[in-house]
Amino acid sequence: MKILRNKIELDNHLVEIRKNDQEIGLIPTMGSIHKGHKSLVEKCIEANFFSLATIYINPTQFDNKSDFENYPCDEKKDIFELEKIQCDALFFPSKEDMYPNGLKSQKEILDYRDILCDKFRPGHFDGVTTVVKALFDITRPDHAYFGEKDFQQLKLIEKLVQQNALPIVIHACPSIRLKNGISYSSRFKNFSTHEKKILDNAAKFIYEHLIELKHNVTSIILDKLKKNLLEVGVNKIDYLEVRNEKELSFASLYEKYRLFVAFYIGNIRVIDNFALHYKVKNKK
Ligand code: AMP
Repeated sequence: MKILRNKIELDNHLVEIRKNDQEIGLIPTMGSIHKGHKSLVEKCIEANFFSLATIYINPTQFDNKSDFENYPCDEKKDIFELEKIQCDALFFPSKEDMYPNGLKSQKEILDYRDILCDKFRPGHFDGVTTVVKALFDITRPDHAYFGEKDFQQLKLIEKLVQQNALPIVIHACPSIRLKNGISYSSRFKNFSTHEKKILDNAAKFIYEHLIELKHNVTSIILDKLKKNLLEVGVNKIDYLEVRNEKELSFASLYEKYRLFVAFYIGNIRVIDNFALHYKVKNKK
C-alpha cells in the first residue's frame, strides 16, 4: 500500500494511476479503522477500482472540543489494517491541504437539515460537506464510498455531488455490525467494559422493539424503547425516530423506512439506523 503524506505525493501518484486508465475509488475516513471502514475499501477493490483511502480527523465537524481531542487515533494500526486487505493507497491530508484558506466550513447543502443529527449538532454537516468537497477536489475520484450507518451524511453527500454536478458515483454501503447488532464505530474504542455492557443491553431493547415497529409505528412503542434505554444506563437520547429513506421525512405510507437513533453512553455518542421496510412491503 502506498502511503501518501501530502498533496504533491498524491498528485504524482494519481497521475500514474490515471495513465493506466484505472478508475479511482475514494474512501474518506477519520481513521481508527474497523470492519465498517474495511467493508467500504473491499467494495472498491472488488470493483477493480484503485482504492484510495484517506484518514483525516476533521476539526470543523466536531461541535464539541473534548470530543475532537478524545477522538481515537492509531496511525500504525490503521496502516496495518488497510495493508492487510490490500488497499492500494492511503492518503493523510494535512490541515493546509484541506483548509488552504483557514479552518472554516461552509453551509452549502440546505436539504435534510434541522432534523436528526443536524438538530443536535449544529454545524456538523457543514464541516462534513466542506471536507468531503475538499477531498473530492484534490483527489478527483470516479467513485466514492460512504456508509449507510451515517445515513443523513450520505444523503447530504449525494446532494453535494448532484448540486455541483460532480462526475462521481456515490456508493452507499450497508452497515457492518457488532455481534450485538449495533454498527461498528471508531468512538467505541473509548468504551469501558461497563459501557460496553450498557451498549449490549441497549441493543437488546432496540432489536426487541424493531420487531414491534416492523408491524406498527407508534409513539407508544418509541416511548417504551426510550424508557428502556434510559433504564439500562443510556444517559441522554438525542432522537429515536422513524423516517423514510428518500426524504428523511415522517410521511406515512412510504415504502422504505428506518429507525434512526442517537444517544449517549457516558460521553460517547452512538448513532445508528435500522431498516424497517420489510413489513411495509408485505402490506402491498
Ligand atoms: P468515519 O471514519 O466514522 O468518518 O467513517 C468513514 C466512513 O465509513 C463513512 O462513510 C461511514 O459512514 C463509514 N462507516 C463507519 N462505520 C461504519 C459501519 N459500521 N459500517 C459501514 N460503514 C461505516
